[in-house]
Amino acid sequence: MPSTRPRTATKFLVLFTLKERLKLCYASDMESLNCCACQKPKPTLVCGSCESKVCKNCAQFLDEGQFSFLTKIPAALSHSTYCPACFDQHVASELDSYNRAVEAAKNILVYEKKQSKETRLLSRKEKPVRVESCQDSGETILRLAFLAAQAGFNAIIDVQLSSTKTRNGSYQTTTWSGTGIPSNVAANKIAKDRSLWQNPN
Ligand SMILES: [Zn+2]
Ligand SMILES: [Zn+2]
Repeated sequence: MPSTRPRTATKFLVLFTLKERLKLCYASDMESLNCCACQKPKPTLVCGSCESKVCKNCAQFLDEGQFSFLTKIPAALSHSTYCPACFDQHVASELDSYNRAVEAAKNILVYEKKQSKETRLLSRKEKPVRVESCQDSGETILRLAFLAAQAGFNAIIDVQLSSTKTRNGSYQTTTWSGTGIPSNVAANKIAKDRSLWQNPN
């Protein structure tokens, strides 16, 4: 049958064009103009991760400084606006474990260097952690405690803080830094050994 081949080719061509046109239509109407989550028109925001348009109701936001206790903030966590899919995929579980470490940091046992008599039996195998550019001693301790909590420890020992005054024109600012060694205090010792940090201020 001589007419079979051209007809098939034409059919293919027509189908192909239709599909392309549908795709273009889909892309311009659905993906670009509507919210990528609820499909409502005129979304005003853009997901920082996948760059899809997203409406105010569907967008998830991260506060600036949300992950500020992390030594290095991964690129995937550095946006302020997310579509629901990207938030679920990249942020939700990270945010959850970050918040748990922040909570745990508040219960970390903090021992100063000068309390080394009390902590002489505790392990010092971990590498010391260091934080810098803190605004005050409280923030410095909390950030050190966070690093210990994040690594699964319940104490930080040999803690030493220092502050530097910098003059900037007529302003003088003080920045704090600190070091400490993450360690573990056995559960049965915690009540007895619990020490409270003496605020140097
Ligand atoms: Zn929406
Ligand atoms: Zn996205």
